[in-house]
Amino acid sequence: MKLDFTYDQLPARVVFGIGAFDKLEAEVARLKLKKLLVLSTPGQQKLAVAAAERLRGRCAGIHAKAVMHVPVEVAETACAEVQRLGADGVVAIGGGSTIGLGKAIALETALPIIAVPTTYAGSEMTPIYGLTEGGQKKTGRDARVLPKAVIYDPLFTLDLPVAVSGPSGMNAIAHCVEALYAENANPVISALAEQGIAALANGLPRIAARPADIEARCQALYGAWLAGIALGSVGMALHHKLCHTLGGSFNLPHAETHTIVLPHAAAYNAAAAPDAMVRVAQALGAGDAAGGLYDLAVSIGARIALREIGMREDDLEKAAEIATRDPYYNPRRVDQAAIRDLLVDAYHGRRPRSVT
Ligand code: NAD
Repeated sequence: MKLDFTYDQLPARVVFGIGAFDKLEAEVARLKLKKLLVLSTPGQQKLAVAAAERLRGRCAGIHAKAVMHVPVEVAETACAEVQRLGADGVVAIGGGSTIGLGKAIALETALPIIAVPTTYAGSEMTPIYGLTEGGQKKTGRDARVLPKAVIYDPLFTLDLPVAVSGPSGMNAIAHCVEALYAENANPVISALAEQGIAALANGLPRIAARPADIEARCQALYGAWLAGIALGSVGMALHHKLCHTLGGSFNLPHAETHTIVLPHAAAYNAAAAPDAMVRVAQALGAGDAAGGLYDLAVSIGARIALREIGMREDDLEKAAEIATRDPYYNPRRVDQAAIRDLLVDAYHGRRPRSVT
């Protein structure tokens, strides 16, 4: 491994473990917060109520209105609620959508966030925010949106349905895979990424077989934490660009799109990033990175074809054009015809080309 890198380490406080949610009040006291607004989606309001009950006098209110991709109107309403209640911090309990709403508030008000993630998306470990206006999602980086404390309690993931858990975990694995061949990769993040893949590859099949397996839930959430660090610390490449294109321009579901595209993106980059692929394969316990990722997706019962999640065959050319228009760094040159082939394979759910 070539040791020549620049590494910006992000600040983080993480409380991890079964029952870690019991430490919420201690984290609030540590940050000297007195009036917290608790955020969730409408579907997870029960958790927000549980948090409010724990916080008692320190809870300013519950705002269970988080939705996917943080529309600006939703962010503005939440900011107005923060103002109205005089909140001095937010507790965001949920997946990337709820934590994303917390970040939108922090961006506007600089209030501290305590995040309690309940999926494997990893947003809680990144200074990246996203806001959607007029159907266009804009993302940016700002230190203000990085949560001041993150409470990972595997008990909160027990309700995550198998059909959501698997793709959410594959989304996390995608962060790790791309971290290993990032333009600004560094040995610390690469080690975490490799360990993240191993933990998720260990946990996800066991969750698919037995969703209430708390030890498997611990492994997957631990892997998701490491994946979140990787996502927040180094740049992502072709795979994330393709998924942003498919999600943003064709409205495909976030985590499932990641699951389907990842083996094909890995196959595309295999020859250009051989060391990264060896590490991915080792972490998966597979002979080949792309094939191992594909087999993992199949083994957890995830959908493996873009046509199964709403992509139209007629749009593949357009998707290839958009995804190559303004490419991110990628270890292999991004070529529109080759990307179209990749998307055709992903559309049909074929085994990635490097292993056929
Ligand atoms: P999500 O937050 O939209 O959650 C999906 C659904 O599952 C929601 O209805 C939610 O209420 C429900 N849910 C979540 N956890 C649950 C649980 N434990 N039990 C039962 N139901 C549960 O999905 P996500 O994949 O976590 O997040 C996706 C969003 O996050 C996207 O908008 C993506 O762009 C963003 N994201 C941002 C970053 C970042 O760094 N900024 C990183 C990853 C993802």
